[in-house]
Amino acid sequence: MRREWTDLEVEELSLRFENSTAEELLSWALNEFYPNIALAFSGQAEDVVVLDIMHKVAPDKIRVFMLDTGRLPEEIYELVDKVREHYGVEIEIYYPDTKEIEEFVKRYGINPFYRDVELRHLCCKIRKVNPLLRALSGLDAWITGLRRDQFPTRATTRKIQIDHDHYGILKISPICDWTWDEVWQYIKKYNLPYCKLYDRGYTSIGCEPCTRPTFVSLGDVTGEELRKGRWWWEKNAPKECGIHCSLEAGSFERHMETVFKLKIKIK
Ligand code: SF4
Repeated sequence: MRREWTDLEVEELSLRFENSTAEELLSWALNEFYPNIALAFSGQAEDVVVLDIMHKVAPDKIRVFMLDTGRLPEEIYELVDKVREHYGVEIEIYYPDTKEIEEFVKRYGINPFYRDVELRHLCCKIRKVNPLLRALSGLDAWITGLRRDQFPTRATTRKIQIDHDHYGILKISPICDWTWDEVWQYIKKYNLPYCKLYDRGYTSIGCEPCTRPTFVSLGDVTGEELRKGRWWWEKNAPKECGIHCSLEAGSFERHMETVFKLKIKIK
């Protein structure tokens, strides 16, 4: 049976590991929770770094999952195969529900996310958030490559926190205090595989129709610049899909209801 954590217990853990290295935290977490712990891999540079550290500290305790939205760029699939080969790991891939996709496309078309933020949120919910719920349903903890300076919504990320949006399991972000520069120094130092889109000016990788290059050079850049290529056409909307930021606590549910029940007016 899954352990129910209190906020106090997790706050204590969070404080205990705040100054720990990623190696120390991952070593503890994998020993404590394997096989009910897995890395969420989306092809970001950070994910490869975290996987590499997992492989160093506990190579026989690695589980990795990925959400295939059906709209990912080819370069992500190439990376997935490279990563499987490089580390000798399986990657558990979760797909969206076919019926939800079919209904969504029938009602709103192939690319409705360009027309309306609510429809973009709904697409992200169907293609990412719902599959994530399935991926996390049997876990006690998940591991992410989140970093605090990726975007203002991530500035308060803790190394260990309760994920109230996902069954109250633990969410572990071992490199949340790393900089963008440190991530790339690590990748170059150990010659890790990475998504080739980074060589073409991308600084955050997402679905193909919703991501474009930013041409921000490596160095001391702000998170807002790093993610400005995601949903670039939107104004005043958080650059989040709902996986890591529930957009004001569970608002995706409201978005779903708004769109499906009230049939929002499409711009
Ligand atoms: S990033 Fe774009 S294509 Fe991917 S799930 Fe979200 S809205 Fe849909």
